[in-house]
Amino acid sequence: MTGAIVDLSEAPPPASITAEVCIIGSGSGGATAAWTLAAAGREVVVLEEGGDFTGLALTQRDSAMYDQLYMERGGRATTDLSIAVLQGRVLGGGGVINACDVVPIAAPVLRHWQRHHALSGFSPEALEPYRVRALADLSANVPTEEQLNQNNRLLRAGARALGWRGEVMQHNRVGCQGVGACLIGCPVNAKRNPRFVAIPAAVAAGARFFTRARAVRIEDGGAELKTVQVRTLDAKGYHEQGALEVRAKVVVLAANAVASAELLLRSGLGNEHVGRHLSLQPQLPVSALFPEEVRFFRGIPQAYAVTEFERLTEEEGLGGFRIESISGTPGIVASILPKLGHDGKALMAQYRQLGAALCLVPDGPRGRVRVERSGRLRIDYELAEEQKQRLRDAAKAAARLFLAAGARQVQVAAARPVLIATEAELGLLDALDFQPATVPFLSAHQQGTVRFAPSASQGAAAPDGAVYGTQGVYVFDSSGFPTSSSSHTMAPIITVSRFLSEQLLSRAR
Ligand SMILES: Cc1cc2nc3c(=O)[nH]c(=O)nc-3n(C[C@H](O)[C@H](O)[C@H](O)COP(=O)(O)OP(=O)(O)OC[C@H]3O[C@@H](n4cnc5c(N)ncnc54)[C@H](O)[C@@H]3O)c2cc1C
Ligand code: SF4
Repeated sequence: MTGAIVDLSEAPPPASITAEVCIIGSGSGGATAAWTLAAAGREVVVLEEGGDFTGLALTQRDSAMYDQLYMERGGRATTDLSIAVLQGRVLGGGGVINACDVVPIAAPVLRHWQRHHALSGFSPEALEPYRVRALADLSANVPTEEQLNQNNRLLRAGARALGWRGEVMQHNRVGCQGVGACLIGCPVNAKRNPRFVAIPAAVAAGARFFTRARAVRIEDGGAELKTVQVRTLDAKGYHEQGALEVRAKVVVLAANAVASAELLLRSGLGNEHVGRHLSLQPQLPVSALFPEEVRFFRGIPQAYAVTEFERLTEEEGLGGFRIESISGTPGIVASILPKLGHDGKALMAQYRQLGAALCLVPDGPRGRVRVERSGRLRIDYELAEEQKQRLRDAAKAAARLFLAAGARQVQVAAARPVLIATEAELGLLDALDFQPATVPFLSAHQQGTVRFAPSASQGAAAPDGAVYGTQGVYVFDSSGFPTSSSSHTMAPIITVSRFLSEQLLSRAR
């Protein structure tokens, strides 16, 4: 079979396609599965509702790129509008728009899954070859000293001044030219993401990728041959314009933890756990104004992590918090600065002097994805009191870091903005009560909605990814993770997707 990438907004779709395997989603999970299964000779079709954007089609323009590269144009949020739920919607998925940090699943997290979630097969030893392979797929490497921009260096200087542990994270860039637009796509194709690694390899092995192809329902989930109902979209992905059916024995969901659960719910498949146990890992932005130019918008945005307060234990898995440098394009920064109107404009005039960090606070599985009777998707999520305290602690730590690095003022955007100029003012952060929609939280690492568990009473999918109550419907993305896998999910998803794909192949032999 000849592999291909076919844009269904241009080509008239065939009425139906039959394949051995239909994969929904072309990101880290789906592309890795496509590559592994096609290389083993399976006939694979991948459905992707986004378009294909590479090189100069990634224009570095905020509004156009959020419109085309993010799910719901970047506007997806929790039901109470407290947390922006960010996900890629493009061939290659989130890897196209992510910050390229490579942080595999740590052994204590896997032992936690084994001991507290009865996933005996997920041992660090069993997953080690897949972790190593994921790092190779990503060409994981540590940014050089010259590649660290001033914002990252300032965070490191603050950590060193306070004696706190930190590290330069591995990344998956090769040939990075420091343009700094990573979160809206790299125009020089320096990211070794699924679009440039797994997808070309899968196509060479015969897999067919269809873009602007939205899976809307899986029918006959309990039968040997399943039918995926697909709507084709127009060139911009705004409107449905055609339909096609894909028939396959095996359907692999890899649409991300929100969309994979959403599709099962819309299809009436799976048990009462589907959609539950959602982790969002909310991230809190903290910015700082420096007396000198920082130009955080140039170079690698997110390279240095302060890991002093992160906890990795077999008992609890991933806990505590970490702080990582970050940058923002003008549109995003303007929307999360603590001032509006005339004052906001004055603050934006100091864009070159801004530094910024994200407080990454791992959470327990506490949210839920559901589909209302009207058809509307809802993402319910409420912060726990304990989580709020960790967020305040993280904000204080970030403020101390920036002050130690010489910031004139640290800013936490909130309904009542918190502005801190000295250590003596850190107590002001205790006023953050995190009432709904009062601070600009982000979620980039959704997990847990089709939880792997050894029985249907404990979760929605078996440890091999098979969705309970179906025959041959699998989930190979972070939907299966019972708790937060890592502070960054791309490497964990690639690791687990290949691990489960090879198990699928070995059973089918
Ligand atoms: C802004 C941002 C920054 C991030 N930074 C990092 C980082 O630095 N390091 C890191 O490790 N992780 C990072 N992440 C997270 C990481 O990118 C994701 O966890 C990962 O890409 C998810 O992979 P996936 O294959 O599960 O899903 P995705 O990559 O989201 O791919 C799923 C694909 O499925 C498609 N899809 C959804 N529903 C349907 C449907 N019904 N029919 C057809 N197609 C569908 C979507 O369009 C999407 O392209 C970041 C995420 C974001 C949003
Ligand atoms: S910083 Fe590097 S990876 Fe990011 S957009 Fe620029 S060139 Fe691409």
